[in-house]
Amino acid sequence: MGAVAQRLRDGSGGLNGNGAGQSCRLTVLGATGSIGQSTLDLVARNPEAFEVVAVTAQCHVQELAEIARRTQAKLAVIGDETMLGALRDALSGSGVRVAAGADALVDAAREPADCVMAAIVGAAGIRPTFAAVEQGRRIALANKECLVSAGDVFTAEVKRCGAELLPVDSEHSAAFQALAGADADAIEKIVLTASGGPFRTWSMDQLAAATPEQALKHPNWSMGSKVTIDSATLMNKGLELIEAFHLFPVGVDALDCVVHPQSIVHCLVSYKDGSVLAQLAPPDMRTPIAVALAWPRRMAAPTEKLDLARLGSLTFEAPDEVRFPALRVAKAALRRGETAPAVLNAANEIAVAAFLQKRLAFLDIARLVEETIDAAEKVGAIAPARCLEDILSIDAAARRLAAEQLARYDAP
Ligand code: NDP
Ligand code: MG
Repeated sequence: MGAVAQRLRDGSGGLNGNGAGQSCRLTVLGATGSIGQSTLDLVARNPEAFEVVAVTAQCHVQELAEIARRTQAKLAVIGDETMLGALRDALSGSGVRVAAGADALVDAAREPADCVMAAIVGAAGIRPTFAAVEQGRRIALANKECLVSAGDVFTAEVKRCGAELLPVDSEHSAAFQALAGADADAIEKIVLTASGGPFRTWSMDQLAAATPEQALKHPNWSMGSKVTIDSATLMNKGLELIEAFHLFPVGVDALDCVVHPQSIVHCLVSYKDGSVLAQLAPPDMRTPIAVALAWPRRMAAPTEKLDLARLGSLTFEAPDEVRFPALRVAKAALRRGETAPAVLNAANEIAVAAFLQKRLAFLDIARLVEETIDAAEKVGAIAPARCLEDILSIDAAARRLAAEQLARYDAP
């Protein structure tokens, strides 16, 4: 953690981050996703400031080709190897190099660049992000799984390689800004806010019958489907507490969350002298993305301006861990430590995919995750992790255990 904080405090790099006033060479992993598109929107509005190096996607081959042409990227990589031909056809005559497959995604992350936006969803983003870290790059980190599943291993690698980590997740970007390089012993508490998702006021009976269509209707944020479902279960806030634990120099007891339905305040940092610093912004990911891309400077983002008089009131309430047990399960995994968060994340990815396919009921998501962690504990899979390979093998084992649990559930 020390080196991450130090690098953050140094504030070196930033927009025009190669220090010589040239444009920032930027790679976007997960370019077709919600974060990827928001990043490229900022790039398009600041054409002088950025030069796009590599762009990647998993299966949206036409969208990827269109992005590569539009941004004049040097390299386009599709994760699904069967789509290499389609990508080559779509980019013929463009001068953009093409490649496909999981190893090619890792190679894309290694291309010379000043900054890598790590915006692949899920544990699939871990290896490419590690590859960017190995090159000592500035990492704008949206992929929360690197910190959740690989926390200590990831931050140690950032330190070892002299990479620079800038959080993109809105709450962590907010904490990073409100911390402003403060000493660890000055901080009393870091409180992340949660919107509460679309089911904030729903009863247990309503939650039991919640459908993917209902869960995908987030009241405030427009995001990819995985993180939208995690917001509905509050698992997202649990994952974010684990993220915060690895990013900021405070212990588990100094981390908390509060439900704030308007999603205007993103994080509050309480100091020992009684001061509380909060970061406020309308819910638009282009703000935290701009913070990460431009740090230590600021760049313009075309977001709605905050108008407190029009909003009138901001409200806060305690999260309900009975109706939203995923938060309790994630907090327990954070306290258990070792590979428990990696198992939590893998099981949750399996559970969310099953929910989206209507093979699992909404309330069974947290149940399945908790059972998988118990099963992993029984077979000795919750243990210290020393390296990336340990994390990837625990992730695979946890997916197998979660699939076994899933087979015991009836479809809703
Ligand atoms: P999306 O689902 O919108 O996009 C995911 C991106 O990753 C797409 O480019 C997708 O390609 C690619 N991808 C999917 N699966 C794989 C795979 N197996 N291998 C390689 N690439 C893959 O996700 P989001 O943009 O919402 O989220 C990205 C990350 O940012 C997540 O970790 C999320 O938790 C985090 N985050 C997102 C926020 C948001 O507002 N969206 C807020 C805070 C954090 P394709 O399109 O071809 O499938
Ligand atoms: Mg967030």
